[in-house]
Amino acid sequence: MDEKSFDLIVIGAGPGGYVAAIRAAQLGMKVACIEKEDALGGTCLRIGCIPSKALLEASDLFHQAKDGLGRFGVKVGKVDLDLQAMLQHKDNVVKANTKGIDGLFKKGKITRFLGHGKLAGNGKVTLDPGAGKAAETLTAKNILIATGSKVAMLPDVKVDGKAIGTSTEALAYTEVPKHLVVIGAGAIGLELGSVWSRLGAKVTVLEYLNRILPGMDVEISAEAQKILAKQGLEFKLGTRVKSAKSEGDGAVVECEGLDPIRCDKVLVAVGRVPNTENLGLEAVGIKPDGRGRISVDEKYATSVPGIYAIGDVIPGVMLAHKAEEEGMACVEGLAGKYGHVNYNAIPNVVYTHPEIASVGKTEEELKSDGIAYKKGSFPFMANGRARALAQIDGRVKILADEKTDRILGVHIIGPRAGDLIAEAVVAMEFGASAEDIARSSHAHPTLAEAMKEAALGVDGRSIHI
Ligand code: NAD
Repeated sequence: MDEKSFDLIVIGAGPGGYVAAIRAAQLGMKVACIEKEDALGGTCLRIGCIPSKALLEASDLFHQAKDGLGRFGVKVGKVDLDLQAMLQHKDNVVKANTKGIDGLFKKGKITRFLGHGKLAGNGKVTLDPGAGKAAETLTAKNILIATGSKVAMLPDVKVDGKAIGTSTEALAYTEVPKHLVVIGAGAIGLELGSVWSRLGAKVTVLEYLNRILPGMDVEISAEAQKILAKQGLEFKLGTRVKSAKSEGDGAVVECEGLDPIRCDKVLVAVGRVPNTENLGLEAVGIKPDGRGRISVDEKYATSVPGIYAIGDVIPGVMLAHKAEEEGMACVEGLAGKYGHVNYNAIPNVVYTHPEIASVGKTEEELKSDGIAYKKGSFPFMANGRARALAQIDGRVKILADEKTDRILGVHIIGPRAGDLIAEAVVAMEFGASAEDIARSSHAHPTLAEAMKEAALGVDGRSIHI
């Protein structure tokens, strides 16, 4: 095999692509990964999950230092915000993570190509390095498309990267906006809205639907809305944004049925669309669906032999960890092993304060599927550790099959919900019943006891409520 020829070429080095590349190298394949950005890690590591978590943690500390430590008997002097230092912390975190992938690629002897990859048929990929350099052709037995997604736009909202921007800009505002208008009450809108609200901005969230966090359990998202509203986020639900344009130093947002809203920043967070343009798909015979997604079979094979796709470019939730699981399952299949993703046990976490986490079916889904279920719910208010943390908002809710007691869904809003949900995911992977969790010893005093109590509650026998 020459240096331009591989067992596997992965196009895209986000969590789906880079994990697939590493796993394929572990399995003995000669692997190349094409990525157009200098840094590896994709949207998630560079301009998504990781930098937003760095800002969420930092802004939460600021907020606590400013308003939240007195009750613990901790007296703090005047608290000031050094936004440049906070942004630097975020940049450092991103750099450490993306550099980490460089190291993992070296360890796996994965060849990294910088440039735009395009399918050229018959196991070939054209690499365009840009900057006037000549394109070259790479060949592989198998090709994996892992090009992820980009921000969805609204037709009359003119994103200029200044007053009107996407999550990329909202991760790097150099001043705290006086008034930030967020379009869309999904994960991005609520997480970044929370960051800037904690740092002092007035935040107005405009949402088309009559609820926030579509897809999440309705009871949990209603509780989230109440808690976030108490923190100062202003919600205007059932509001369709007609247009937004820059004006002076700020912007004006026009919505149906409302007076125009003047603000200094607008964050457009109305979803994401697959990155499937300019990949040469049509030329090799792959036709994306009406939403730009690539259809695949259970082994992530497209309609063209030797070409596979995973992550945000195929149907399903657009989550980094879903893409990672698919990437591993796909290359394990290529190596003759058995890779499998249980789509019913993919957790979903929103990193607001408190966090919101879910796995499996919502109550609404169970009702519409006609599945009879039992429900156990336990509030953090009755959990000793949550009281010690002074974080008593929220609950754990477990939904189990009425006859078999098998866990069908778990929904949490509360402190460290994103970590707590892991227990529910493992339980569901093992086909556990609510009684299995209820009879497992949970260390005292921990937040995890709320999970045990909710499981006990499925049969009406919670102890502490
Ligand atoms: P989203 O799809 O989760 O939410 C977008 C919201 O915008 C929806 O509630 C929708 O009803 C609303 N909307 C659409 N058009 C509108 C209009 N004209 N006016 C007002 N509201 C409108 O999208 P997102 O928050 O942008 O996130 C994008 C993707 O990234 C999602 O798949 C999300 O799951 C993922 N993501 C996940 C996390 C996480 O897991 N913590 C964090 C960030 C992003």
